[in-house]
Amino acid sequence: MKFRFSLLSLALLTSFISACTSPQVPISTPSPPNPFTQSPQSQTNTPTSPHPTATSTVPVTPTAGLPQQATATPESPGISLPQYTLSAVLNYAQHHLSVEEQIDYTNNSSAALSDLLLIVEPSRYPGVFQLGDLTWGDGQPVTDYEREIGLLRIPLAEDLQPGEQISLSITYQLDLPSPSPSYYGRPVPFGYSSRQTNLVDWYPFIPPYVPGEGWLAHNAGPFGEHLVYDLGDFTVDIQLSDSNPDLVIAASAPAVTNDGWHHYEHNNARNFSWSVSDQYVLTTTTVDSTVVLAYHFPFDDEAGEVVLDTTAESLELFNTLFGPYPRKTLSVVEADFLDGMEYDGLFFLSKGFYNSYSGGTGDYLIAIAAHETAHQWWYGALGNDQALEPWLDEALSTYSERFYYENLHPEALDWWWTYRIYYYQPRGWVDGTIYNPEGYWAYRDAIYLNGALFMDDLRKEMGDEAFFEFIRVYAAEHVGQIVTADNFFDTLASFTPSDLSPLLENYFKNR
Ligand SMILES: [Zn+2]
Repeated sequence: MKFRFSLLSLALLTSFISACTSPQVPISTPSPPNPFTQSPQSQTNTPTSPHPTATSTVPVTPTAGLPQQATATPESPGISLPQYTLSAVLNYAQHHLSVEEQIDYTNNSSAALSDLLLIVEPSRYPGVFQLGDLTWGDGQPVTDYEREIGLLRIPLAEDLQPGEQISLSITYQLDLPSPSPSYYGRPVPFGYSSRQTNLVDWYPFIPPYVPGEGWLAHNAGPFGEHLVYDLGDFTVDIQLSDSNPDLVIAASAPAVTNDGWHHYEHNNARNFSWSVSDQYVLTTTTVDSTVVLAYHFPFDDEAGEVVLDTTAESLELFNTLFGPYPRKTLSVVEADFLDGMEYDGLFFLSKGFYNSYSGGTGDYLIAIAAHETAHQWWYGALGNDQALEPWLDEALSTYSERFYYENLHPEALDWWWTYRIYYYQPRGWVDGTIYNPEGYWAYRDAIYLNGALFMDDLRKEMGDEAFFEFIRVYAAEHVGQIVTADNFFDTLASFTPSDLSPLLENYFKNR
């Protein structure tokens, strides 16, 4: 059996190896336009009438004193998180979504804002995003805005001062895409397949604003994730207009269903994601106060059970190591695309991992389920700039797989080191970005795998007691924030008297 595990694992390694980033897929020549690499083209609407600006001023304490803080923590006094209120009607069979959205945004930064930026990921796909009405909170139309691929920028007639609030209403339609890697050069979670429809980054949202730097909005790269998420409060109502009684919704939060509408509250969250299928088989279990909901396709019952168990075990372990997961639910959804991908309160795990499950504990299905669960801390609880500092979520989530194996399946820890890490002879700077000119494999090896080696060497340097206390305090101190490498190393400094210079010189270009 061991031989079989290894063989299957190796087959996996050559196809879709890493979680939360896409495997490198050769792009045929000539290539169709790739919405992830196209240079932005502006469409400017001519201003035609004066427009209102900030709608109200609420007595809020500006976040002066946090000039470099990109985000507000929910605990910060006087902070009002962005409020997203979404009402969406999906026709599953016709792949059509109709949305009404309201955004209530308070300027929590210490700088006056001269414009608002909306991230509009669906507009990266040709013919998918149709903007309807765009109005201010008082109902007056927004007449002055610029559209770029993936963005919508609204100049403000008067600056939005720290503490001031502004409201926007947006209606739009999505004719969902069915993205295939051969077209986009990467697996894409967003859109539909014959088995499921995935709504991720499906609504316009406002990215973090950093005084002195501006909006944290990066170009999409050919691989890796480029979005940076502030925390927000999400109120979402979903209706399925099909008459198909077998349709099931998996979502970032638990539903309250009433009169054909599914109502969700998802607060202090990076995003709200959902997935619909008429094939899902749901299994559940409870860990502490969280219900784990695992959705799999009917032909993957055995692997589905393993994913449920692994996710539950990981959640319980990470609750202990990193601090409690704050949500009532965690959903894991079998993905009809070749990748794993994390979102807040929900993650996808590729059908490829399920289909190739070997039956043993040394298996990518298990390793990646633990990895994606760890992202609820390293991505969710502690956000980061995924484009410029991807190691802060990917290296820590990869190394968290080791925590899972050493605690739950120590018999497979050698498998994990051999086939997850050393097989690739990882090298490369851990503090690289997603825009690695050497390509996907170099990016994966540096950020995920060499990143895990760095964490392991750091642990050896510190000793287990100090290392695990550091991890726990780092998570606790920065929960709700967008962390930087400086945050990581500042917290680390108080846990080790050692000179870490030799270690850092090995792994980091800029330390
Ligand atoms: Zn990941």
